Amino acid sequence: MTTQRVAVVSGAARGIGAATALRLAEDGNAVAVLDLDEAACAGTVDAITAAGGRALAVGVDVSKADQVEAAVKRVAEELGAPTILVNNAGIIRDNLIFKMTEEDWDAVMAVHLKGAFLLTRAVQAYMTQEKYGRIVNLSSSSAQGNRGQANYSAAKAGLQGFTKTLAIELGRFGVTANAVAPGFIQTDMTAATAERIGVPFEDFIKHSASQIPVQRVGQPEDIAATISFLCSEEAGFVSGQVIYVAGGPLD
Ligand code: NAP
Repeated sequence: MTTQRVAVVSGAARGIGAATALRLAEDGNAVAVLDLDEAACAGTVDAITAAGGRALAVGVDVSKADQVEAAVKRVAEELGAPTILVNNAGIIRDNLIFKMTEEDWDAVMAVHLKGAFLLTRAVQAYMTQEKYGRIVNLSSSSAQGNRGQANYSAAKAGLQGFTKTLAIELGRFGVTANAVAPGFIQTDMTAATAERIGVPFEDFIKHSASQIPVQRVGQPEDIAATISFLCSEEAGFVSGQVIYVAGGPLD
């Protein structure tokens, strides 16, 4: 029997992060469910344990170095050395550039970019020691530009460069790094976008689906399935890639 690996998923209380945590647990990994509020992680943790898996809820703001260091140390102590990391935590602070505040800019950079940097720096210490690791960073189709998302698209494009550099630096330690770039996924985040532009979520979904080649919007499980492959042992020769999961071609 192979030893159980330990996965860390940030922003895993809901949405894509929760679906990914569940999927990685189904794949046989112990999963640390990280989110801002530890209590909010209970749903994900309970679903994993009810299915016979091992999970740990950890409250952490990924943009704070001291909290991230403490969280990863706790994961290592309570679950074991983490060798799978999914940097998923994210926020939106959408506005057209002329209305975007410095706070909107800084908040998005802090969670997506600095958060991914801090968690990766903390977890890679275990990966390099174990000579094995799988890192997946959540980018977005918005990396190619999206009206109202100057901050978010810059952060998501930045994560692609970050991912490629991780692949180059960490490959020799058996660590791969890839980015998954979702298109429209039905979560609270896209519901918030519909609200901002004043369109009922159902109508927003219907219109978006009509623009997507496969004629539907994505579900969190679509992203979790792709992440599952990239986190598997057999994906060891796939590294530094950006995989768009958007129901149609993007590059
Ligand atoms: P979501 O439903 O809004 O979930 C995001 C989670 O991240 C929330 O649980 C949130 O906690 C948590 N979070 C926010 N700031 C955090 C911080 N500083 N530290 C720790 N956790 C934090 O979002 P989602 O739609 O699942 O998106 C997940 C990822 O996919 C994000 O990186 C997003 O940018 C990316 N993505 C999503 C889509 C889409 O269409 N939905 C498309 C492309 C990319 P709270 O609930 O406490 O705020």
